[in-house]
Amino acid sequence: MAERKVVVLGAGLAGLGFARHFPGCRVFEADAEPGGHARSHHFAGAWFDRGAHICHSQDQEWLDLVCSRVPMHEMSSSTVLNYKRGHWFAYPVQNHLFDLPPAERDLALRDFLSAQEKYQSKSPRNYEEWCRFQYGDYLLENFYRLYTAKYWHVPMAELATDWLGGRLLPSQIEKIVAGAKGPVAETQAVFRKFRYPRKGGFFGMLSHLAEGVDLQVNKRAVRVSASDARVFFADGAEEAYDQLVSTIPLPELVKMISEVPAEVRAAARRLRALRQYCVNLTVKRSRLSEAQWFYVYDPEIEISRVSFPSALSGDRSDQTAIQAEIFLPQHARPDEDKLCSKALADLGRILNFSPKDVIAAEIRCYPYSYVVSDLARAPSVQLVRDWLRTQKIETAGLFGAWQYVWSDRAFAGGRDLARQLQAT
Ligand SMILES: Cc1cc2nc3c(=O)[nH]c(=O)nc-3n(C[C@H](O)[C@H](O)[C@H](O)COP(=O)(O)OP(=O)(O)OC[C@H]3O[C@@H](n4cnc5c(N)ncnc54)[C@H](O)[C@@H]3O)c2cc1C
Repeated sequence: MAERKVVVLGAGLAGLGFARHFPGCRVFEADAEPGGHARSHHFAGAWFDRGAHICHSQDQEWLDLVCSRVPMHEMSSSTVLNYKRGHWFAYPVQNHLFDLPPAERDLALRDFLSAQEKYQSKSPRNYEEWCRFQYGDYLLENFYRLYTAKYWHVPMAELATDWLGGRLLPSQIEKIVAGAKGPVAETQAVFRKFRYPRKGGFFGMLSHLAEGVDLQVNKRAVRVSASDARVFFADGAEEAYDQLVSTIPLPELVKMISEVPAEVRAAARRLRALRQYCVNLTVKRSRLSEAQWFYVYDPEIEISRVSFPSALSGDRSDQTAIQAEIFLPQHARPDEDKLCSKALADLGRILNFSPKDVIAAEIRCYPYSYVVSDLARAPSVQLVRDWLRTQKIETAGLFGAWQYVWSDRAFAGGRDLARQLQAT
């Protein structure tokens, strides 16, 4: 039997994970380089990622693959802070109620304890109920709702809970009560141990994954004929396939296929993602914060998260690299210069540096960032992927499966699909 012709769209981690486990496949990437959302770039003397990226994987096969090639900076736990109205407090807020002003602290603790009694046997139907049942009304209204509005731009009641853990364990409840009585060490640090390359940004440890892959760059797929099993590219080229593997955003793929039935097209239109802006800068100041990253709650500040690439890479120079992330609904088209200037002014005030400390700053936009886990996501994704499968089109990765995954899982999603297709 002639060899199956397998064409892969996208050379992010999912595409590369597939290609490394499916000999003979050909990968077509729209950009000039592989790496997708895991790529890094050099600017103003520092490396910046597409939003804060760290390696906290527990998957030994992945760690052996990516951590052995370049020197890594290992951190034994994360230091993460929250910022609201000029106050700093440890993350997550519920574990550190003592950091809040006394009146707020008492209200938050009272509501938290009453929620534990009131909602013990209830199952949340959405994220709003999940927060109310877990943390009580005070923390819901004063922290989680504020942050959700800035970050997800969707009412909390429209968000699902499939991206969250289960109920609080009794030990966590004790910890929250202890955290309201006095300062406590963060034993539930977001990440206990994590790594970051000393050079080259997050992609410094991943760039070798494209070696040996049959990859063509600057090849943007613009149309797929499912009935003829052919992909057409922006440069006029076309490629026939027996099996198409797509790691590009699911709604973009659906738009390219003319044969898509109306209900599948409608399902693809329900998929929501965030548009991400990164304001990257370096300043002539050392150690501006004890945190590796922090979250900003104030509604009038567009920035949601700020990270310090120089702290992540272990750079001890007298300059600090800062990245501020702003998340907007996908249809938003803000004035980028104004957004950047406002972010720089806000950062200067929050971190106490002056405009003359700034060496250089830029703003970059990533049209697809986090996928929004709203209540429509899972059934819509299933409908779309089930139909694509009938057309010899499989999808994988963060935007192919349209479900948030960390980098190791994006790669594994591609690898697992390759193994599955090889077995059939
Ligand atoms: C803000 C943010 C922070 C994150 N932080 C972390 C972290 O701390 N740690 C961690 O492990 N993971 C993190 N991740 C997750 C990680 O970045 C992703 O899981 C991973 O990069 C996704 O890889 P992918 O291949 O699925 O998708 P992508 O990287 O998007 O790859 C898809 C590829 O398809 C290409 N493409 C698009 N359209 C076309 C077309 N028409 N034709 C051809 N090619 C096309 C794109 O250029 C891209 O290269 C983060 C993600 C986000 C959004």
